Amino acid sequence: MGRITLDKVTKSFGEVQVIPPLDLTIEDGEFVVFVGPSGCGKSTLLRLIAGLEDVSGGEIRIDRQPATHLPPAKRGLAMVFQSYALYPHMTVRRNIAFPLKMAGMDKAEQDRRVTEAAKVLNLTDYLDRRPGQLSGGQRQRVAIGRSIVREPSAFLFDEPLSNLDAALRVGMRLEISELHERLKTTMIYVTHDQVEAMTMADKIVVLQAGRIEQVGSPLELYRAPRNVFVAGFIGSPRMNLIGGAEAANHGATTIGVRPEHIAASPESGTWQGRVVVSEHLGSDTYLHVHDTGLADVVTVRVDGEYGAAHGDTVFLTPEPDKIHRFDAEGLRIA
Ligand code: ADP
Ligand code: MG
Repeated sequence: MGRITLDKVTKSFGEVQVIPPLDLTIEDGEFVVFVGPSGCGKSTLLRLIAGLEDVSGGEIRIDRQPATHLPPAKRGLAMVFQSYALYPHMTVRRNIAFPLKMAGMDKAEQDRRVTEAAKVLNLTDYLDRRPGQLSGGQRQRVAIGRSIVREPSAFLFDEPLSNLDAALRVGMRLEISELHERLKTTMIYVTHDQVEAMTMADKIVVLQAGRIEQVGSPLELYRAPRNVFVAGFIGSPRMNLIGGAEAANHGATTIGVRPEHIAASPESGTWQGRVVVSEHLGSDTYLHVHDTGLADVVTVRVDGEYGAAHGDTVFLTPEPDKIHRFDAEGLRIA
């Protein structure tokens, strides 16, 4: 249950092809995150899988069965919408049971499923409340509960946390990850936030302009980005990308070094520059360094206690085995 394959799937809106032929396999039980900049086709891809949009070409299979032309309700998938899709006048119990009632399921089975879902989501004590009497996080859980009771073979989430404040987002991120641990059901989660992708995914699919740039585990993408796009997209703060003579020294057109792989010293090092801004996060300090002759700004992540002020001279030394090399096409050199 829950294996989804896309075979040369394409999508055009009128004359514009937003998804060129795309192949992807999502294994049963995987937590897959689609990540990429706004407009890259994440929602479109999710909606094609859900059946909310028709493909322009190619095949979709769900649990090895052809699903390309199945209507959404027949695909056995559940799209989790944002919590504001709850009915305000209905109790939590009735909100969660709603799709089952619509499907004409018998009352005893409805109750069994609602009780089970409430237990999984820690909503047992809130079943008789209305959405207005719940916190934002609890409302989001009710929205998820409404999907769980349908016992789908996969859950599809489209940026479900984007309307929540930062603290709640981190909490919900953990809850959804935990839910996946408990249910072990396939989940496809769309976000433009690479931190969400890194923290939640078993497998990340990085998209740009409707194309898959790379598929891999969070650490695979972090350690060995296939190209300059993925290198710059995954990781925070962003990887420093350096061209020119310094890259040529390494037999590359571009080299990349992550901020956490550069040491800073006031006395000596490979590169010399001037601190423009130092951002103190407490646990770490981000030094933004100008006048290195390498790039406009080189960002370095140093110890939180590192003292540096605007205008200070700083010497930077990259860890030699953490330098990524890319060719003229922007592809990784092994
Ligand atoms: P994302 O979710 O990654 O931000 P979308 O999948 O929403 O991106 O959109 C991908 C591209 O397809 C964008 O260029 C968008 O303008 C276009 N697009 C999406 N839906 C439609 C539509 N119904 N009609 C025309 N163009 C669309
Ligand atoms: Mg979208």
